[in-house]
Amino acid sequence: MLVLIDGELKSVGKWEMLLQRDFPFMRQDSDSDGSNIYRKWGFECGGGWYKLLRACCESIVKRYAEDGIGIGEIDFEPTQIKEKYGTLRFYYSYTDAPCGIAAFDNLATGESIRIEPKSKADIDDAKAKLRHDICAIVRAAEEESSHTCEICGAEGKLRNDSDLGIHWVRTLCDSCHEDRIKKAIEKRKKMNENS
Ligand SMILES: [Zn+2]
Repeated sequence: MLVLIDGELKSVGKWEMLLQRDFPFMRQDSDSDGSNIYRKWGFECGGGWYKLLRACCESIVKRYAEDGIGIGEIDFEPTQIKEKYGTLRFYYSYTDAPCGIAAFDNLATGESIRIEPKSKADIDDAKAKLRHDICAIVRAAEEESSHTCEICGAEGKLRNDSDLGIHWVRTLCDSCHEDRIKKAIEKRKKMNENS
């Protein structure tokens, strides 16, 4: 499906529509000002991670429900959901904790130092516990992405094909990885033919 964002058509997968439909806190708003990257631009990762993202959202709903908070009152706010160094980065905030910088990424090591959202107001113990658990839920989803193919969702692992001139580390299953190598070799052949 194509959606108009800032005068440009963006292709939005069915899985992205489903997550927005089933989880109100995942709704995007292409008319927003862009201070929340997710709200404006949506997912910046492949649909192979749909299932783990869905499971993550379901766990969030369940955890809020334990505190008697309904799905419509959830104050969890995704701020950016993307692939980086081959794995999922799910940055988030809360409605009472404005989103600032969510992480510092070390380009050399691929390490990411995360900054947890801080509420302006004092929060009670129950809320602190809730947010602690939400953090663990999100981290578990990120961890799962490190062995889930970003294209098809099958069991995968991190692939570095820089020797083939592919400068994009991705988590892929064997079959999607083979496809990627084939395409890279074909591309290289074409380039050689044209030179
Ligand atoms: Zn795959």
